[in-house]
Amino acid sequence: MSVRVLFAGDDRDWPVYAPLLRSACAARGLEIALSDTAPDPAAVDYIVYAPSGPLKDFGPFTAAKAVLSLWAGVERIVGDPTLTQPLCRMVDSGLRQGMTEWVTGHVLRHHLGLDTHILHQDGIWRDKAVPPLAGERPVGILGLGALGAAAGQALAGLGFPVTGWSRTPKSAAQIDCRHGADGLAETLRRAQIMVLLLPLTEDTRGLLNAERLALLPEGAVVINPGRGPLIVDADLLDALDRGRIGHATLDVFATEPLPPEHPYWAHPRVTVTPHIASATRPQTAAEAIAENIARGEAGRPFLHLVDRARGY
Ligand code: NDP
Repeated sequence: MSVRVLFAGDDRDWPVYAPLLRSACAARGLEIALSDTAPDPAAVDYIVYAPSGPLKDFGPFTAAKAVLSLWAGVERIVGDPTLTQPLCRMVDSGLRQGMTEWVTGHVLRHHLGLDTHILHQDGIWRDKAVPPLAGERPVGILGLGALGAAAGQALAGLGFPVTGWSRTPKSAAQIDCRHGADGLAETLRRAQIMVLLLPLTEDTRGLLNAERLALLPEGAVVINPGRGPLIVDADLLDALDRGRIGHATLDVFATEPLPPEHPYWAHPRVTVTPHIASATRPQTAAEAIAENIARGEAGRPFLHLVDRARGY
């Protein structure tokens, strides 16, 4: 019998995902009945899910073996009381590559002082502004998961000394890995450029507050492609106003889209990007989803299972 799969992602994505999911499943010998509607929710085996899609109540999907998120961040679903099924988050090569490119680009912008030349084509020959080499620019990465570790390794490959921080002890090639409260303080103290790639959980909300911003070196740059509420906005704005923090490049915000009147837009030390650091790419995401369906059908453990208590 076919495996019944409901696509509950964004309506606009259905025509793109339908053929990719069918062929990725077929390549694994899986016969699936894939639909974007579920007249009989109790008959659905797997739910492919995005918060931007129509599904708001997981209760009726009594036989579903897993909810497979198209998004890496699961903070909008992890506490949903109707969700009793196992939840898997998206980890795939497209997301990883996109984030690595975005982080590397923005780190290099600040490291090389690119704005000086891009924004000031004013006839002044600034020949003294030679940037240091990467080896003299310590970078910190908060979060050493699928995305943080990849971005950190790319930066280390360019020669930046990278310190990374995670909840549990880790080892990652070329990254000085820290954990715990002491590890966080040490990571912050060293980082001239600080990248946030933590998930949003009860423990990480408001993590970068005035006290922790004060540990960063004078003039440090903050780059946040993680989640907006990791930062206490008022504290960051205060540190930017005083020049304690030299610049913040922010991709994610407590309210998205960022309201036009928000002080971040007009702040001379802030760059806003509209949550585009990375995106789930259908081609590689369909493979990740099919792989988890194949595992479920073979009775093997799912990949990237979310720990509901931990929140990620
Ligand atoms: P992972 O779950 O793979 O990694 C999370 C990392 O954060 C792990 O290293 C984990 O530690 C660490 N962590 C979690 N909680 C704590 C804590 N309390 N203290 C210290 N470290 C902690 O996530 P990904 O790397 O895949 O994604 C990270 C985030 O990036 C997503 O949750 C999402 O919010 C964001 N994102 C943003 C996108 C954008 O376009 N802006 C696109 C995609 C994702 P440990 O290893 O010990 O478990």
